[in-house]
Order: sequence, then C-alpha cells, then structure tokens
Amino acid sequence: MSIVELGMPVVPERRIPTRPGRRYLVRTFGCQMNEHDSERVGGLFEADGMVPASGVGDADVVLINTCCVRENADNRLYGHLGQLKAVKDERPGMRILVGGCLAQKDRQVVQEKAPWVDVVFGTHNLHRVVTLLDHAEEWGPVTEIWDETASIDDVPSNLPTVREVSHSAWVTITIGCNNGCTFCIVPVVRGREISRRPADILREVRDLAAEGVVEVTLLGQNVNSYGRDLAVDGRRRPIFADLLRRVGEVDGIRRIRFTSPHPKDIKDDVIAAMAETPAVCEQLHLPLQSGSARILRAMQRGYTPERFLAKLRAAEAAISGLATSTDVIVGFPGETESDFDDTLQVVEEARFDGAFMFIYSPRPGTAAAEMDGHVDPAVASERFSRLAELQRRISLQKNEELIGRTLEVLVEGPSKKDPGMATARTRTNKVLHLPGVHLSGTFIDAIVERAAPSHLIGRVAG
Ligand code: SF4
Repeated sequence: MSIVELGMPVVPERRIPTRPGRRYLVRTFGCQMNEHDSERVGGLFEADGMVPASGVGDADVVLINTCCVRENADNRLYGHLGQLKAVKDERPGMRILVGGCLAQKDRQVVQEKAPWVDVVFGTHNLHRVVTLLDHAEEWGPVTEIWDETASIDDVPSNLPTVREVSHSAWVTITIGCNNGCTFCIVPVVRGREISRRPADILREVRDLAAEGVVEVTLLGQNVNSYGRDLAVDGRRRPIFADLLRRVGEVDGIRRIRFTSPHPKDIKDDVIAAMAETPAVCEQLHLPLQSGSARILRAMQRGYTPERFLAKLRAAEAAISGLATSTDVIVGFPGETESDFDDTLQVVEEARFDGAFMFIYSPRPGTAAAEMDGHVDPAVASERFSRLAELQRRISLQKNEELIGRTLEVLVEGPSKKDPGMATARTRTNKVLHLPGVHLSGTFIDAIVERAAPSHLIGRVAG
C-alpha cells in the first residue's frame, strides 16, 4: 500500500464536477462541529457531481466522520469499517474515507487496522476531501492530517454545504481550543484556537439569510474566547459580544444561538449583548461539569461552583425568560460521595432547564486518564441515576411553569413519532409538539398545554 502525504493549499479548489451520478454516504459521530463538517463534506461531494445514496448498499463513496470524545469511539469505528470491508470485497470500486477527530489522532492505527480504507484525513483537511479522493483513485490509499502550523488560512470558510433543513444553519466562528480540561481530548485533535475573521463570518451569515435561513447557531469549542488571536496592537477586538451584536444586525436572521461558552470566560459584556440583541435567543448552555471545587480544580476548569452560580444568576437577572442547560460529568477520578453531593447541591440551586449528563470514562491521551482514584463503575452509575432523577424533576417543574403561556415556536418538521403532529422549537430551545401539519421553517405562536421533562405539548394560539 502506498501512503502519500500531500501539502495543504491555502484556497479551496474550483473544479469541474468529475463524479456525476456517483452516490455518497456520510456517517457522522460526535458533536455539532462534526455534524457541520459532514454538511460541508456533502456540499463538496455534490459540487463534484455526486448525489446522496440511500444506504451503504448503493453508495459508491462512504465517509465516516469520527469522534474520539465519546466512549468506545474506536471500537465503533473499526466495527463499521469491518462491515464496509465485506461490502468492498464484493464491490471493489467502492471508496471508503475516514475523517474527523479519531482520524486526526490515530491515522496510523486506521491505516494499519483497516488497510482497505482509501482516504484518512484530519480535522482541518476537510476542504481537500475531493482532491484526496482523486489521489486515492489514481495512486492508492492516501492520508493527510494537519500539523501545528495550521492557521485559519488553511481552513477555507466558503465551502459549499448541504443542510438537512433550509431554515437553520450552523456557522463556525472558532476552531480548536486553548484550554486544558484534563478529561478532554479536543485540544489534541482540533489544535490551538483559531478565530475566523469577522468579515468572513458576517458574509456567511448574510449569504445564509439571503437563502432563507432564519436561525443560526454560532459554533466553537469555546465561543466566548472568540477573537483572542485577532487582537490588534494588544487590544482584543473584535470580541464575542461584538460579534453577537453584528450578527444580530443581519436582516432576516431572527434567532441566534451559540455553543458552547466556557463559564470562566463568560463576562458581563456577553450577557449584555445577549440581553440587548433581540435576535439572540434566551438560552444559555453553560457546562458545569462538577459542583465540587476540588474536582473542578482537578479538571482544570478555572472556576469555582460559587463563581459559576454567580455568572448564571447574573445572566438570569439580565435576560428575561432565560432558559439554561449544562453538562455534568459523574465519577471523575477521585470523586467522593461528598464531592458528588456538592454537584447535586449546585444542580439543585442552579435549576437548569436541561442537562447533558455523562459517566466519566477515560480518554487515552488525556491527563485524567492517568489520574489515580478511578471511581467504581457501579458507584458512578448509581450516582448518575440520582443526578438524572434530580434533573428530571427540575426540568419537569420548569416546563410545567410554562403551561398556559403563549410562545413563539419555529417549526422543524413532522414529529418523528406521530406524523399528525409537528415538532417545533421555542426561543429557549425547548421542543414543543403541536397538532397538525405545519411548514418547516415557519414561526407560529403556540399555547403550552402540557409538559414533560424533555418537551412541551401545545396548540396553535387563537
Ligand atoms: S474548553 Fe475544555 S472541555 Fe471544552 S473543548 Fe476546550 S479543553 Fe475540551
């Protein structure tokens, strides 16, 4: 097998479609960043003439966009690759590509364990996917990942994108992360934080609005450190608060969301920009991770539970009707029953509308994986159940408080469970189901009639 490493060009290539009618399939694991990357790979494939496949059975090109944040990510990848090998043995013309975080981290392992893979590419090499495929078809398997020298100029922002819904879009504002949370592999696989230029971001948002997009979600590993690397003459401008206000001025954009801010970096200016920019939704996702000061130190999160709660309270005081959500890790190495009680107490006090809760599992290559005091899985699982029950109760209470209220919702499409119902979303990011068929992308005023921990049921007002 010949492995060729290619350099990265600064600008995306313009090319004549070379694969008209060939079918592609993209399988995505991981976070919104990966989902957005997959949309862009889809855009690049379609610009090359390809069309979506209905499944592996009719796919000529299969891309697996990997994630290494979730547990057992590599087992899942190699399981998938094993199944694809059987298909490829029958149809040798099929091409298999592996991209994303795991590809960036483990490209050699992928090559060794799955030599039938045609292309392995890293997290900043996505814009090169069609060129890499060309190369693989001509010369054999190819691999390309980024190195420490990657900059924003290596990551073009004007890539074509295939979006699942036409009214809503993600917009990347930063890539990478400069923090060092001890449980997290992201800085290793996504690199140092790089901010996109504000003019590029605003151009993209204006273009999206011109295409009919009404809702944008600004994406970054740590959005509120946006602009640090763009400082001029020692002054940090623009900052995330400026960006929120500027995006809020774009005609046609009625909802702005962002994910995720880091609690240590959320300051009064961001809270003020949220409160004063009508398009910014009344929603804040602030990852707590633990309610124990000791565990937060071990995680290197850079805040105490008290500071976290103070920021949450400041945001709630400034932004009327704010809904909050968080991430919590249960069973971090060294977590005692008393640490876990602290987490329960902070969650009780914070009264988040929702929470993403995880049982800690070590990620190779992180500092936490090497720490002593790994918590017995049975103990972690029991703690997780208690936390989930507490959050379930709080989420239900908060949703019940909305019964009888009229809320603006944006229709996403038919409900997956009941085609007689439509699924919509409030400005506070709550899912609301309502009867009838409603056009995706329309705004409706809905009256909330019933509440569950994870959703609301309503009807059209009036
Ligand atoms: S802020 Fe921490 S958890 Fe988030 S991506 Fe950076 S290192 Fe990971």
